[in-house]
Amino acid sequence: MSMDEKKLEATSPGELAERDFLDKLEGAFRSNIHVAVSLRNLIHRLAEKALMRGIGRIVIMDFCGTHEWSIVHFGIRSLMPRNVELVAGPGCPVCVTPSKYIEYAVKLSFEGITVYTYGDAYRLRSLRPINSAYSLQEARSDGASVQVVTSFIDAIRLANKSGRESVFLGIGFETVAPGYAVAFKKNIVPGNLAFLSQVKLTPPAMRLSLELLMKENLDYRFGVIAPGHVSTITGAKAWSFASEEMGIPVVIAGFEPIDVLIAIAEILRQIVNNESKTVIEYRRAVTWSGDEEAQRNINEVFTTIDDAWRGIGIIPRSGLELSDRYASHNAFEKYSLKRISSDDWEYDLPRGCKCGLVTLGKAKPTDCPLFMKACTPDRPIGPCMVSVEGTCSIWARFGGGGLADEVARSLEVY
Ligand code: SF4
Repeated sequence: MSMDEKKLEATSPGELAERDFLDKLEGAFRSNIHVAVSLRNLIHRLAEKALMRGIGRIVIMDFCGTHEWSIVHFGIRSLMPRNVELVAGPGCPVCVTPSKYIEYAVKLSFEGITVYTYGDAYRLRSLRPINSAYSLQEARSDGASVQVVTSFIDAIRLANKSGRESVFLGIGFETVAPGYAVAFKKNIVPGNLAFLSQVKLTPPAMRLSLELLMKENLDYRFGVIAPGHVSTITGAKAWSFASEEMGIPVVIAGFEPIDVLIAIAEILRQIVNNESKTVIEYRRAVTWSGDEEAQRNINEVFTTIDDAWRGIGIIPRSGLELSDRYASHNAFEKYSLKRISSDDWEYDLPRGCKCGLVTLGKAKPTDCPLFMKACTPDRPIGPCMVSVEGTCSIWARFGGGGLADEVARSLEVY
């Protein structure tokens, strides 16, 4: 912590004149600019060293939609040396929810069952229409019972109040799973509310993405910026397979642009020194073992299953299903809905949509001919354009090769 920041922490607006306080804030902000410039210079020095040691292209995958947001929003991609490429991974749960499960939810909503879900899943389009509706949003316009909620607790409260037969479409990664688990453990989920689990586990998807990238790019070196939020639950240990088994440096990073730059520099440092470790940069929130109580709750309420990821296929042990003890709440059992298996898996993206490749880090949104032409945040065609965490949506809203690059070029930092 710099002197300015220490002083800042020890004071408050009540103890200082407001102008002084604002001056100090500006001082702290400026010190961040110096840190960013130093990190950018370090990244370039390390990339240069890598070239001198015969290491050609270096690909660093960020996994979390919020990291991709930071990278795009702050133009971090524009600051990279030419031999370092940042690619986005499968870090958006809405993007990977299979079309068939959206169709199930739409169908239930037309059968008089109230469907509760989050705002982005509400807009998510399926491949096939049910009663001419491609999404829960369209179903609601046609009179079906659909309600947007901001949490599972909201759905519980509303289902309790209405007493109506209802379903919660529970989409998310490890970050939301403990909240769902505690509600079931505390027995506060009413009998009239079923749970359509679309909770996915991220490490198996990261393993698959890395394996595919490595197979296709034998000469490249790889690094991973692992998700900060997910790691508060799983702990850093969840990602150590990449460094220990695959020889890939991993840094669990926070979401400020400085966090991301530190992570990139540490990955390059490891590559240059021929190391592969799992390092926690986001120490203010993440530990090696994670939130063990949350992990226990998840394990008590859910079982791990092979799960379907939209546009990708079945990934072994990558999903959570309610355990037998909570079977009466399991929407798949209650309404005889079939889980997708490897036998009946079918590619489930709209024609022309490259979301599966974007999600695996094998294509950029701008590689898709529909990007910002037919497919926009206002009229999304594929799932990666729907959620604020979807890579296409982030690139569409904040650049990703556009304005950020122009600014960087004009500042001669490209
Ligand atoms: S731009 Fe739209 S159609 Fe293209 S990959 Fe992204 S979500 Fe799919």
